[in-house]
Amino acid sequence: MTPRSEHIVACLDCDLLQRIPELPSGTAARCRRCGHRIAFHKPDSLNRTLALAIAAAIVLVIANVSPLMELSISGRRVDTTIFGGALEMWHRGQQITAALVVFCTVIAPAVYIGIMTAVLLAARRVPAPGWIGPLLRWSLWHQPWAMVEVMMLGVLVALIKISELATVIPGIGMFAAGALVALIAAMTIGFDPREVWLRVPWPRKETPPAGKRPPVLPDTPTGIGLGFVSCESCGLSSRPVDIDDPGQCPRCGAERALRRRNAVQRTWAFLVAALICYIPANLLPVMTTTTLVSSEEDTIMSGVVLFYRTGSWHLALIVLIASVVIPLAKIASLAYLLVTVQRRSTEGLLERLRLYRLVEFVGRWSMLDVFVVTFTVALIQIQPLVSIKPGAGVLFFSAVVVLTMIAAETFDPRLIWDAGNEQRGSYD
Ligand SMILES: [Zn+2]
Ligand SMILES: [Zn+2]
Repeated sequence: MTPRSEHIVACLDCDLLQRIPELPSGTAARCRRCGHRIAFHKPDSLNRTLALAIAAAIVLVIANVSPLMELSISGRRVDTTIFGGALEMWHRGQQITAALVVFCTVIAPAVYIGIMTAVLLAARRVPAPGWIGPLLRWSLWHQPWAMVEVMMLGVLVALIKISELATVIPGIGMFAAGALVALIAAMTIGFDPREVWLRVPWPRKETPPAGKRPPVLPDTPTGIGLGFVSCESCGLSSRPVDIDDPGQCPRCGAERALRRRNAVQRTWAFLVAALICYIPANLLPVMTTTTLVSSEEDTIMSGVVLFYRTGSWHLALIVLIASVVIPLAKIASLAYLLVTVQRRSTEGLLERLRLYRLVEFVGRWSMLDVFVVTFTVALIQIQPLVSIKPGAGVLFFSAVVVLTMIAAETFDPRLIWDAGNEQRGSYD
């Protein structure tokens, strides 16, 4: 019996070619070599995710129209919504950061939830309409940029910080945002994109090159060795006519490549750019606080020191880890991965892949300080008593976060394994 082509998969993290067995309900298949979850079977995954997506859509609207928090100081009350926070940032001269905040807290979650709802509704028809493929790709692309949970932590830090000056009351928007964090997490965990992809009909016109039998590598059959190219978008592994120029995925239409194009050079470029921005991000002030008697500029580090001096050592630690340790560790880790890949090192393959996964996972949390600044600025506008202006440091800091996130996405973890594969045998 020849297995259906959908059931042969080259692992997206290490390129090991393997067959996915029929999965009993509630189980997952992990890559034999690197442990990457290549498939899982959740009963009723599509309907559950649809229910969660609809609930998330409602909560998203509530979270965006209700006040996130309210502040009262000497009889005056101010409140802010998520969008209002970004708008204040915009008016105070940090337009790019304001746009980034709106993208990560409003647009990316809305696109992810909205398109996901449409895709899941359409996937109930059999066969599913062809247009859901590109839409699903589009929605999954937005998911890593939806940072509601990081924003929540940022809002909490800002709240604790401001509560020393005035009474702060969390608003309905805050609770809605909390519910949104849980709903998006449940959606992401329970959703099995394979189930949607298996319903999308596609022309099976790809035929492997005739007369050119690929070599058999019994110990490590890899995609690259046996002429399979994996689509990073829908996970389909197939054998294109020309492996060096595989063109578009026959199922979802995404551009494919054996390895992410020029991954090493491009990751270096983003990394160097991030490192350059890291210097002004730390030297320039992220906030300027003006009171009746004085004006004080705060850099990221002086903000951490201030938290520590005023007894909030836990906040100092959170901001220190998110804003100083994580960006630096990310840059160093990616540089280490690039150097070892360029040296074709075969040492510690699994450890290096784990390091890469960690870098990908923690990257978004560095946005924390950007959100802290945004919501502090939005609330403390009770002039002439005190006013806070965002500084240019916050722009460079946002650039560091975005550039390192893109650098991690540009790197191809399969490159780590390629050197190890080559030692074992030839491909031609
Ligand atoms: Zn793997
Ligand atoms: Zn595809």
